[in-house]
Amino acid sequence: MINNSAVLKLGLLVIAMFGLSKFSQASETKILRFDKIIDGTGIALQAKDIAIRNGVIISVGTDLDRSINAEVVEFDGLTAMPGIIDAHTHITYGLPSTPKGDAWAELGQATREQRYSASILNAMLTLRTGVTTVRDLNADQNLDFELRDAINSGEVIGPRIFASGPGIHPFNDPPPEGVEEASADFLRIAAQKRIDAGADWIKIFGTTGSASDLTSKAYYSPTAIAAAAEAAKAAGKRITVHSYGPEAVDAAIKAGVTSLDHPVGISDTHIAAMREKGIIYVPTVDHNRYYAQHASEYGYTPIIQQNLHAFVERNIMTVRAAHQAGVTIAMGSDAVMSGFGENTCELKAFLAAGMSNVEAIQSATINGAKLLGKEQELGRIGEGFAADIIGVRGDPTINIDAIISGVTVVLKDGSIVVDNRDKAGAINKPDCGALY
Ligand SMILES: [Zn+2]
Repeated sequence: MINNSAVLKLGLLVIAMFGLSKFSQASETKILRFDKIIDGTGIALQAKDIAIRNGVIISVGTDLDRSINAEVVEFDGLTAMPGIIDAHTHITYGLPSTPKGDAWAELGQATREQRYSASILNAMLTLRTGVTTVRDLNADQNLDFELRDAINSGEVIGPRIFASGPGIHPFNDPPPEGVEEASADFLRIAAQKRIDAGADWIKIFGTTGSASDLTSKAYYSPTAIAAAAEAAKAAGKRITVHSYGPEAVDAAIKAGVTSLDHPVGISDTHIAAMREKGIIYVPTVDHNRYYAQHASEYGYTPIIQQNLHAFVERNIMTVRAAHQAGVTIAMGSDAVMSGFGENTCELKAFLAAGMSNVEAIQSATINGAKLLGKEQELGRIGEGFAADIIGVRGDPTINIDAIISGVTVVLKDGSIVVDNRDKAGAINKPDCGALY
């Protein structure tokens, strides 16, 4: 466990840095009045008021104060949207400061306490982007479980986290000596270990490929992946497979995963099967733009930068094909380290792949909720949904920058966790750079 007073001190520092208002009384009914409301479906509602109580939306309409006796809180000039869902983060990959040129080595040297503190900061930076829910897919030492639980208990301010713990990977689960490839039993046990430790999701690294390594070599046999998936399903957990190229896609589809993360260059047959089985595609296009743009923090050469940009271009082509074929796509940033704050740049990649603004909004709201199996609780502005609401400047159905650099207010579970109405509006204005 991390020293509590250190966490509290950091929490206060975060509050001072980001100008958080005190948590409002969640048990009181409040009416939030916006200029406009855009639902997770991308549709502009014929309503301006959202009534909330105990962290839940109880009514959506106009002039709700005529029927509900409650304080009206004005959000002048802002468009309300559901809190954004980021379907792929690494919130515990954090350093005390910006990486100095060898980010991965620096991360390896950071102590558990340093990493936990950086995670708390990442959590706040994530909220500032309008992201109120993340699926976090790989963390050392179960730090993600600790952060998730601290956020759920109110000790730390951050997005709701669905966590996988350490992903199943030969590095995290070295096969016994003399054994070349993990058996089905080995992977079943590996999955069970995560479930017992508190995982919400089981993540399998089906292939190589990460950061400057753009290869996609399969790590596991289809039988082994199927065995891990069986264990996950038996425990009521969802499963996702990391496949940088097509190499683990067949195995994942056969195993009945909920989602596939990253894959580039998959075939039309793969795409058709994903659509047919409702497997959600989380393309994580923009993170390779991030690595190229932040090359100096990682020590990446100009050649690596070029390769990253070329990979982005191919990734966009795959997204275009999957989108045209009707595959459900969820927005996942794959944010690490200084990437927190750039989470929603991914939306630009989706527009580049041919999505409309409305479809891009859906990828970051209702599709993320579907991925998590929370389509009755998250991703929409409607009665019975969590009061995870953001206020943005502008209309994201016309200009997606309203989300990327216009988030001015963030409510999570009905409490204001980011509020910059009195300042110059949005404070998070990421430089999303050029995709390729
Ligand atoms: Zn990742």
